[in-house]
Amino acid sequence: MKRKDFIKKGILGGTALGLGSVISGCKSDPTHSTESELPNINFNKTFDWRMTTVWGKNFPVLGESANMLANLVNKMSGGRMRIKIYGSGELVPGYETFDAVSVGVTEMGCGASYYWQGKSPAAVFFTAVPFGMNSQQLTSWLIGGEAVGYQLWKETYEPFNLIPFLGGNTGVQMGGWFNKEINSIEDLQGLKMRIPGLAGKVLEKAGGAAINVPAGEIFTNLERGVIDATEWVGPYHDYKLGLHKAAKYYYSPGWHETGSQMEFIANLSEWKKLPEDLQEIIYAASINVHSWMLAEFDQKNAEYLEIIKNETDVQIRTFPDEVLAQLKAHSATSINEITSSNSLAEKVYDSYVKHQNQINKWSQLTEKAYYDKISIR
Ligand code: CA
Repeated sequence: MKRKDFIKKGILGGTALGLGSVISGCKSDPTHSTESELPNINFNKTFDWRMTTVWGKNFPVLGESANMLANLVNKMSGGRMRIKIYGSGELVPGYETFDAVSVGVTEMGCGASYYWQGKSPAAVFFTAVPFGMNSQQLTSWLIGGEAVGYQLWKETYEPFNLIPFLGGNTGVQMGGWFNKEINSIEDLQGLKMRIPGLAGKVLEKAGGAAINVPAGEIFTNLERGVIDATEWVGPYHDYKLGLHKAAKYYYSPGWHETGSQMEFIANLSEWKKLPEDLQEIIYAASINVHSWMLAEFDQKNAEYLEIIKNETDVQIRTFPDEVLAQLKAHSATSINEITSSNSLAEKVYDSYVKHQNQINKWSQLTEKAYYDKISIR
């Protein structure tokens, strides 16, 4: 028996009898940590970790979330755990974050799971599903009740020696910037649009062309007509990128990103080496960041929507119902192509849809009625 195992058994002692599954369950899942066993902790041992991010260093909200997590963990641990943040390209390119953390180049990473759908098709469902759940609904799937969504997320990442944490949500994004009105699905035919991931496949089924453009080149490509349209995030980020200077029409809603979930990831082997209190601290800090991010997006987007309305000539529009209905049908086909060829993706999406169908009834009765009848003045 290893010394660590011996100590663990010694601490739990008699209280573990008959509660083995409960206790081991809560140890592997901080979301269900209901026991208050005192872990055996060496408070003199410190941990210096590194986190590489998909985003540029200090990139508004998304990059800031990594700094916030590191600051919280440092303070909550009394300085026993420090995490140094590296922006995209400082250690590894952003799109290599998943691999870098998987093999232990850094202990942590920050990004979004849909960037890793090439590694595991199921990953896409933990960030953005076209016509999927919003942030509030998604969070309830992930960590409400039995935390079914979070368990599936961990199951998806475990083969890569990774463990995910909730890292915030953008809220419903905007549908994108266009230089012509979108009155029917035919207006999307031949349209070259920067729109990533699963949504790009949906656009192609509608007759458009999804063009992959890095963030730093979106404005120039749109201004020069290399692309006809683009989506990005919402008023705050879009205004900062100057997209109002390159397109006339700004469409809502972001049918393709109805509440994009962000993530922190940790190398699972390194995570297991941490004392329990530091594991709990990282988890608690990630939930703190998760709450802050949506609040920050909502506050900034509301502020910058007014700026776009008042200081630019941009026309703000809503996609016609018929266009959305056809995009929704194409989305179902695109999702089916993923789930029919991968059993884990099918399992994850089945759970996602089950939750979405159930919570939609509750949201219709309350949230929708709130927006329709109370909030609009
Ligand atoms: Ca987006």
